[in-house]
Amino acid sequence: MATAPQVVDSELQKMAREHLWMHFSRMGGYSPEHEIPLITRADGCYVYDEHGKRYLDGLSALFCVNAGHGRAEYGEAAARQVEELDFFTLWSYAHPRAIELAARIAKLAPGDLNRVFFTDGGSEAVESALKLSRNFHRAHGKGQKHKFIAREVAYHGTSLGALSATGITNLRNQFEPLVPGACHVPNTNIYRWPEDRDPLWAADAIEERIVFEGPETVAAVILEPVQNAGGCFVPPDGYFTRVREICDQYDVLLISDEVICSWGRLGYYFGCERFGYQPDIITTAKGITSAYAPMGAVIASDRVFEPFSKGDSTFAHGFTFAGHPVSAAVALANLDVFEREDLCGHVRAKEGEFRQMLESLSDLPIVGDVRGAGYFQAIELVKDKETKESFNDEESEKLLRGFLSGELYKRGLICRADDRGDPVIQLAPPLIADTEQFEEIHDVLSGVLTEAWDQVVAHG
Ligand code: PLP
Repeated sequence: MATAPQVVDSELQKMAREHLWMHFSRMGGYSPEHEIPLITRADGCYVYDEHGKRYLDGLSALFCVNAGHGRAEYGEAAARQVEELDFFTLWSYAHPRAIELAARIAKLAPGDLNRVFFTDGGSEAVESALKLSRNFHRAHGKGQKHKFIAREVAYHGTSLGALSATGITNLRNQFEPLVPGACHVPNTNIYRWPEDRDPLWAADAIEERIVFEGPETVAAVILEPVQNAGGCFVPPDGYFTRVREICDQYDVLLISDEVICSWGRLGYYFGCERFGYQPDIITTAKGITSAYAPMGAVIASDRVFEPFSKGDSTFAHGFTFAGHPVSAAVALANLDVFEREDLCGHVRAKEGEFRQMLESLSDLPIVGDVRGAGYFQAIELVKDKETKESFNDEESEKLLRGFLSGELYKRGLICRADDRGDPVIQLAPPLIADTEQFEEIHDVLSGVLTEAWDQVVAHG
């Protein structure tokens, strides 16, 4: 594991304030008194800030570093690759590592998902999958099939096509008009469903929407195995079986957006395996390299690839850096680690213990629900456990940004306090996390959530 020297350099803070534009960040909120969180090194499940303070990375650096931080062999693979072939593009050419990685992914992916189109990240993967769906139908003489159906509150990325699939109003409305053809249907926020609701209600809503739009206009349905935004919404039993049937019935492609849910996050290489469904396309990124180098991919079935496999037909789409040899070499090293250490098996063996630890917090008055799968779990925070009353926007702002985010970080736990749906805390530690890390998460959360509730009571 890496042992980089500790860096303490407040000049970096100043330079960051003056020149760095952080993503999704209130840049005006930083000042000499309000430091930018500056992570300078990492090792295993832990990262360190510029002062040398240690944090448990309870979010795998945004659901990315699945194999854990600081593995020198990934750097060695990258260095070997730079010496052999630094870069060549996949635009009309191939190179060994992209070929080897595509073949290895095809072998791991379920069913006939045999064709890999590389991208640089998740948004590009989603963007590519949406364009591919339209192109696929066009190739079959069904060019009118252009709409795609996604779920409310789901996050599918920020480029304009991916953002059109994203179902978070506040992210969408400031960039409108978006790409035409995006429709949204209810998600599987079971905690907020009436108790007597048919478990297949949300799946049936997809069929209703396809029929409403006109099946001859709908190209694809895009869903995450477990929906991230809103707080780890798991599907009810039978949901994906029903969605698959609906897609088959109306000749609509099923895209499984596994930018988070693949590469062991749910205890399997691919999230769809956990829930037993066969998508037409998987989109992935993040954990494909454990984020030691940027990469994403679209994995398409033989059927989806077929129109592009013959004659002069081309998928007229690409990105200069996609499938970069260094990223591909790192991804191969990552898969070696997954196999050698059986990281998927470790998650399956330990997820019960992880979940139990989180459920032991259910006694706290602020904890309304604990849900998720694998190493991808959320705690929903409520004002009233009995009625499930949530916090309004102002209260949520005060609770999450005014207290929880800062306090969790101060106490050495990086996780996500999120209110894109109702307020939740999300945890997705590196897949090597074990009892020691679970206990640490528990201790920080129980203290911080107890204090949060005291504040709720004190301030109403
Ligand atoms: N799709 C899903 C399900 C995601 O969670 C994300 C990012 O978190 C994306 C797409 C976009 O990926 P990226 O940030 O790599 O563009």
